[in-house]
Amino acid sequence: MHNVIIIGSGCAGLTAAIYTARANLAPLIIAGAKSGGQLALTTEVENFPGFPAGILGPTLIDNIKRQAERFGAKYLKVDAVSVDFSGKPFKILTSSETLETKAVIIASGASAIWLGLESEQRFIGKGVSSCATCDGYFFTNKNVVVIGGGDAAIEEATFLTKFADNVIIVHRRDALRASKIMQDRALSNPKISFKWSSALEEVLGQDFVTGVKIKNINSGEVEEIKIDGVFVSIGHKPNTEIFKGQIDLDVKGYIVATNETKTSVDGIFVAGDVQDHVYRQAITAAGLGCRAAIDVEKYLASSEK
Ligand code: NDP
Repeated sequence: MHNVIIIGSGCAGLTAAIYTARANLAPLIIAGAKSGGQLALTTEVENFPGFPAGILGPTLIDNIKRQAERFGAKYLKVDAVSVDFSGKPFKILTSSETLETKAVIIASGASAIWLGLESEQRFIGKGVSSCATCDGYFFTNKNVVVIGGGDAAIEEATFLTKFADNVIIVHRRDALRASKIMQDRALSNPKISFKWSSALEEVLGQDFVTGVKIKNINSGEVEEIKIDGVFVSIGHKPNTEIFKGQIDLDVKGYIVATNETKTSVDGIFVAGDVQDHVYRQAITAAGLGCRAAIDVEKYLASSEK
């Protein structure tokens, strides 16, 4: 029987592990087969406090992991396959065993939705990104494309104009989905241009992105454009598949947090992007992990009285 199992090994889960480990709760992290969360997919991180020269995303994640392990956190590099939160102890099934625990912190994160092109996947972290806040700075005085037509795509494109010389929004229809105010902002920005009714066909390059092939959906014509970066902004999805029917999710599938980090089930707590679809930063996820850990500590102390 575990005191606390943390599902997820991104910034939120690993920070929760540091705090619960230092509270002598011997946390077990179910890290996932693809461990490390979104930081594991990025290159240089320049906005995480404490690293004036920046730090590589995978290095930062590995540092936080080792920091948690130093205080006794255990790490299982497997996926949680299903959960049973209907009674106590809570049960978590992995690919190899059923684990029992008094408390759970869900920190399974959210994933950027990708187009699914082979070339797109190959260049993630090498010019293809899903986060302008994280990677925009690297495209200072360069040219980038943004894929998507929603609020996030427009916000990313507008943000990118602080750095890039030219930002081309590639959208599959001839009208944006984004709100009117966001549209007006983009349409009046001299650095932003549009490729309407168009789709990304292929990302080109050797070690790093050097261009894209864009297809006009109506004419079928394919155009090659020299470009330094590709930002895919077609939405995010929370990693909550295994929690459906077990705890309350909102209409978009994010976990509903009530009363700080508590969920609809007493003893199940939540942290990070699986709950937060607004800020989605490494540092905010870490902060939420810290909060969930402190709440778990209080919960376990009061349930043992
Ligand atoms: P949205 O679902 O609103 O938009 C996704 C965009 O991506 C749409 O334009 C869609 O095209 C396009 N898209 C989806 N799938 C594909 C695909 N396979 N190929 C090409 N294009 C595709 O997601 P967002 O992330 O933009 O926003 C999520 C939520 O967050 C929204 O409610 C939004 O309003 C909100 N938000 C608000 C902000 C603000 O107000 N400042 C900032 C960011 C987000 P199509 O239009 O044809 O469906």
